[in-house]
Amino acid sequence: MSLQNSQKQVDEWIGQFKEGYWKPTEQITALVEEVGELAREVNHCFGPKRKKSTEGIKEIGDEIGDVLFSLICIANALDIDLDEALQKAIDKKYKRDNKRFERK
Ligand SMILES: [Mg+2]
Repeated sequence: MSLQNSQKQVDEWIGQFKEGYWKPTEQITALVEEVGELAREVNHCFGPKRKKSTEGIKEIGDEIGDVLFSLICIANALDIDLDEALQKAIDKKYKRDNKRFERK
């Protein structure tokens, strides 16, 4: 699934409701909440507050999904093309950071 398809699906889902997209500040708060939930799951898997690791990895995946959903909502509300934004970020890694780390 491309990011464009994901953006379209999220937009269709949000479009069903009168409330629509939240204000940018509310969306950022929701994103930070989801990042906190992701951090909690990572801490449960790899930090001192361990729980069953098989459940943990699945839950990390679920939380990453929630973070992506929140990011897509922000991008949609601000009319940002995420395929383009991600490509720019990847290009930056290949150009600016090309010699930053030791190669294998
Ligand atoms: Mg979550």
